[in-house]
Amino acid sequence: MALLQISEPGQSPDPHQRRVVVGIDLGTTHSLVAAVRHGVAECLPDAAGRVMLPSAVRYLAPSSSGSGRQVGDAALANQLQDPANTVVSVKRLMGRVRHEVAHVDSLPYTVLDRPGMATIATAAGEKTPVEVSAEILATLRQRAEDTFDDDLFGAVITVPAYFDDAQRQATKDAAQMAGIHVMRLINEPTAAAIAYGLDNQSAGTFAVFDLGGGTFDISILRLTEGVFEVVATGGDSALGGDDYDRALLDAMLQRAGKGNWVAHASAVERATLQRLARRIKEALSDAPNDDLSVSETVTADGATFSVSATRRELAEATAHLTARTLGAVRKAMHDAQLDRADIDGVVMVGGSTRMPAVREAVADFFGQPLLTNLNPDEVVALGAALQANQLAGNNPDGELLLLDVIPLSLGIETMGGLVERIVPRNTTIPAALAQDFTTYQDGQTALALHVVQGERDLVADCRSLARFELRGIPPMAAGAARIRVTFTIDADGLLSVSAKEQGTGVEASIEVKPSYGLSDEEIAHMLQDSFTTAQADMQARAVVEARVDADRMLLATRSALKADSDLLTTDERTAIDHLMAQLEQVLETATQAADIEASTKALAQGTEAFAAQRMNRGIGRALAGRRIDTM
Ligand code: ADP
Ligand code: MG
Repeated sequence: MALLQISEPGQSPDPHQRRVVVGIDLGTTHSLVAAVRHGVAECLPDAAGRVMLPSAVRYLAPSSSGSGRQVGDAALANQLQDPANTVVSVKRLMGRVRHEVAHVDSLPYTVLDRPGMATIATAAGEKTPVEVSAEILATLRQRAEDTFDDDLFGAVITVPAYFDDAQRQATKDAAQMAGIHVMRLINEPTAAAIAYGLDNQSAGTFAVFDLGGGTFDISILRLTEGVFEVVATGGDSALGGDDYDRALLDAMLQRAGKGNWVAHASAVERATLQRLARRIKEALSDAPNDDLSVSETVTADGATFSVSATRRELAEATAHLTARTLGAVRKAMHDAQLDRADIDGVVMVGGSTRMPAVREAVADFFGQPLLTNLNPDEVVALGAALQANQLAGNNPDGELLLLDVIPLSLGIETMGGLVERIVPRNTTIPAALAQDFTTYQDGQTALALHVVQGERDLVADCRSLARFELRGIPPMAAGAARIRVTFTIDADGLLSVSAKEQGTGVEASIEVKPSYGLSDEEIAHMLQDSFTTAQADMQARAVVEARVDADRMLLATRSALKADSDLLTTDERTAIDHLMAQLEQVLETATQAADIEASTKALAQGTEAFAAQRMNRGIGRALAGRRIDTM
């Protein structure tokens, strides 16, 4: 007997109907879109067969036919004629204010200083980096929809591992503007590791070496039972293939007897020469040997001459740059407390890792062959596509969990300007962590919460992320309220903080979308600071804590005296007054925590009998927990 299948109204009778999902590598120089087709991840080409979309958008002045723009190759084709309206490297501006953008003045267009995020002045008006990125994403979305002749369900988009909240949020905003549902943002190195199927191993520690057009990133990943963790990141946000182009150009001009000329060349001439150097550099990677010379003819400086280089010459002219990448690798390994021998695989990512000299140097450093058989331009997009496929449920076998870590600790301000760390740095996300706090003063009905980021013990040394208030706490004795503060970080690394008074349920929360981000150098700087100042911080913290304890003791004693001084004899009262005066005196002059603690202890002991008597009167009170400043 045949079994009839009946489907719910509105549901597909075909259990294998697939949702169209893609992975997108939104790169500084190039962007790509990839999808899993017939079980294999592949990059999707445009109508002309090109998979790499230059991350460039040119804005045209509004005319009678409307305002137009060109994206990708069309934008780059006209860049030299119209540099001021051709936005390139916009990724460097995402989620940043102007002064946070490295070498902002050497960008070929005008970056405006605006609160929240820098913007770009173009012939079609002021554009935000989010809008520019949205143009690139929309182009890739169109490509995917044309390829599959279907609507795009969603995408996994990659971001550098060091991207902070503001940069990740800006990326999500750009996707939303392009009409793309973001299933998840994942870190670029994690995507590369997935593309190589490293997640199929049971465990391992991997280095991902990503040398692109303008940036160098090194990430150390650890895989445990199918779970990736980023254990360290490092690199140089101002070191990439462009620097190799410049170094090669300098060397070639030197040999052509035009060494000083480039300094006074026009911007267009310089850009033309740089492109030419880039062509020679790329051609040399494929040269059959070290000594084959590649040359091009230049018309510049009122003359026509020829420049040339061999692979050996390229390697020599750029050896200092490759050495810098290895310096950053060494530092990341040190941060992760790992030895070269601990690394089970090295993944090469980014177009610049095609250079044989770079590969040799990295292989030498790690003492092992590198993973290079996937196209280094495509590997990040391919991994993102595999991840998207998995999230969409298109791949029923195999569960892959992705874990990333937050780069800096998160916490809130407590009494005395101290930081109570709630989410320690390197916590894997998504994460939710809570801690209970209480009120500092009798009858306190509101709390000011101040969310901070950083490794230092004093609020003044950390970065302020957000402030919010919890109001409507019913008046209670100090220490009686139970306020649970919860930090939630979603899979994309975005933070929300909530505070709830447990007894009454009054609640307040905030989404932290910091108006501007930290650069990776700043993060590195803040971490460095916290290591070098840990000792001083501990002492400062001890003093502040001792002061907070002393103040609390004085406050509690004063309010007890006010309520129940009739329990004391005159002598007892004098003794307590004396101890209080002594503590106040110490607070004025002391620089050592131990002095304050000794005096606080004396007052506590001196009031023990009094406290016992009050207990008998049935006015016991809890004085526990940490207190948040009163408003
Ligand atoms: P990003 O991730 O920054 O967008 P890519 O990974 O696309 O950058 O890398 C772009 C860089 O790779 C450019 O500097 C380009 O010159 C360089 N590149 C591409 N192919 C080669 C090659 N065959 N040899 C050397 N460098 C190359
Ligand atoms: Mg890249």
